Amino acid sequence: MNNNEIFDKPVQYIKMVGPRRALTMENLNITTFGELIYHFPRDYQDRSFFQPVHKYKQNDIATVKGTVTGIQELKPRKNLTIIKAAVHDGEAVFYAVWFNQPYIKKQVHKGVQIIVTGKMDKNFGAMQVQVNDFEIISSGQELINSGRVVPIYPLTEKLGQRSLRQIMYYALEEWRHKISEFLSAAILNKYNLPGLQEALSQIHFPSDMQSANNARRRFIFEELFILQLVLALRRQKNNLQKKQHQYDSNGNLVNEFLSKLSFQLTNAQKRVWQEISADMLYLYPMNRLVQGDVGSGKTILSTLALLKAAESGYQGALMAPTEVLAEQHYLNLLEETEGLNVKTALVSGSMTAKEKMPVLEKIKSGEIQVVVGTHALIQEAVEFANLSLVVIDEQHRFGVRQRASLQYKGFIPDVLVMTATPIPRTLAMTLYGDLDISIIDEMPPGRQPVQTHAVKPSSMDKVYMLLKNEIKAGRQAYVVCTLVEESDKIDVQPAVETAGYLQEKIFINYKVGLLHGRMKQDEKEETMKRFRQKKIDILVSTSVIEVGVDVPNATVMVILDAHRFGLAQLHQLRGRVGRGDKLSYCVLVCEPTSEEAKERLYAMTVISDGFKLAEKDMQIRGPGEFLGTRQSGMPELKIADPVSHVKIMDAARKEAYQLIRDDPALKVSENKLLKAEIHRRINRKGTYIDIS
Ligand code: ADP
Ligand code: MG
Repeated sequence: MNNNEIFDKPVQYIKMVGPRRALTMENLNITTFGELIYHFPRDYQDRSFFQPVHKYKQNDIATVKGTVTGIQELKPRKNLTIIKAAVHDGEAVFYAVWFNQPYIKKQVHKGVQIIVTGKMDKNFGAMQVQVNDFEIISSGQELINSGRVVPIYPLTEKLGQRSLRQIMYYALEEWRHKISEFLSAAILNKYNLPGLQEALSQIHFPSDMQSANNARRRFIFEELFILQLVLALRRQKNNLQKKQHQYDSNGNLVNEFLSKLSFQLTNAQKRVWQEISADMLYLYPMNRLVQGDVGSGKTILSTLALLKAAESGYQGALMAPTEVLAEQHYLNLLEETEGLNVKTALVSGSMTAKEKMPVLEKIKSGEIQVVVGTHALIQEAVEFANLSLVVIDEQHRFGVRQRASLQYKGFIPDVLVMTATPIPRTLAMTLYGDLDISIIDEMPPGRQPVQTHAVKPSSMDKVYMLLKNEIKAGRQAYVVCTLVEESDKIDVQPAVETAGYLQEKIFINYKVGLLHGRMKQDEKEETMKRFRQKKIDILVSTSVIEVGVDVPNATVMVILDAHRFGLAQLHQLRGRVGRGDKLSYCVLVCEPTSEEAKERLYAMTVISDGFKLAEKDMQIRGPGEFLGTRQSGMPELKIADPVSHVKIMDAARKEAYQLIRDDPALKVSENKLLKAEIHRRINRKGTYIDIS
């Protein structure tokens, strides 16, 4: 049996599991043996030290071993059952007590040897241990729950610590020895890491804390090493083929665009544009990530790159994660390139076949130079005449990366990825280690932080006052309703109702507009145009406007039900104001119920820097959730935390790149197991990514 066969074994065939437990364990994302044994303890309790009961003080967490000399069940009142066992530890008798666990009397009998762990209670002269965990000692069986360093697992309903420990113990005992090591001995030695079998045993049932920590170190290294290998392999693949296109150095679209611009590029923008142009002129395809906070001016850079492609006789594609965002980008581009000789088109899932046909024709013929759409652009039947550049707008959805399929239909395009939420550099390296990174670390001049307040729905009157004052001063405002789910499905009803209510009841003398994802394309364009022309004072919208909308005269952003939005999304929405030199406001109307929501909203009111907010977000949600590594086609990080394990990551990165240099296709026989393991990890749940 090879590792893959063992790891992929359905968990229900493991001892003590069965179909029903298997279903329960799915809640922990455990469906296979491999997922089970990589379900690591979140903590340990050292219960390896025990001593006679009389040596413990009141309230100590005591671990004591002894013989049960008697057992009784008490019911002092309704709803309270106490099991009380007298235990002799060789020197004295004490009572082990369990509250409301009547089934204990089926497990603990007179005469058995027992180890109990729990809080010491010395009231009234009697010694009592309120049992938290216990273990019955039977000869020849290793201790699992007490009398040792005990694993504490993340749990789910209907699966307790004791059961999970027992399942884990049997699973390891039966299968551990059949698993083969996939890291090289050289690496294990160099970093002093335990082998796989040993590490598995020690991370779950460590002989002491030191061994547990060593085992953890191995799995952290293992995860980061495989992650970096995937990145190194992708990077290598990028540099395998020279590109077939060559940009024109005498084109005029870029220059024309720059000369019409009403402002100077910031130094950061100039630097990044130089980096992008240099990449575009290079022999091998560009693979660059541009990172910059909301409002730092990323759009111009993608526009410049797209114009560069167009002026050289090629086509560029701009892809967004959702239809809604794609439409936004399209509108922006139209506006930005007004008066320039460049043809832009949107390919949208909501277009009818009849609408789509002529557009696809023109893309195929090369008449349209800039195509905007979702990531589906690349997978669908869109045929290009001459594609040389793909710009991917990932916004804050780091997770969803499908660049693997970009090299298709004979084109080897330059790739530029834009990300809105600045992330710590080390993290960027983790997620984008296969890319070169450019950072826009400077805001356009004259920006003031947006004043942000969280208010209850009962204070709407004050919010309306603020809106009226700003509108009187000649400014405009946004009111954002409802939540856009990950998909493109939007419930537009609240926005429609809110717009009606505000127009008819509150802002009778002003003009309230409405924008949502179900409107027709030309209606949306018309509405945005009227908002830009100040013919609309208040734009009520779904979070369509989250990205890209850019009207510097707008100074108020009111977000209804703000507790339902994530931090990144709130920050994006807030980024729609504060784009000019006037003081702007963001009002979060909310009724937070969870602690997490409260933390998020508070963070918004005190932090304006996107970089710091991203760190906060990661703190609140944990790196795994924050990075969205689960659906990303990237190996999952279960134990490694790219932020706190920077040193291990550096080592892993160094080793990964070295290995790929020495054995680019992982063909050498001693790397075969490693290669299989990489494949196993990135191809889980149906996503197939070719790394060979
Ligand atoms: P983001 O990085 O969020 O995509 P945008 O590209 O939408 O930001 O730019 C935000 C706003 O700043 C836009 O109104 C844009 O025209 C303006 N802007 C961009 N660069 C500069 C600059 N160098 N000087 C002044 N304003 C700028
Ligand atoms: Mg933008």
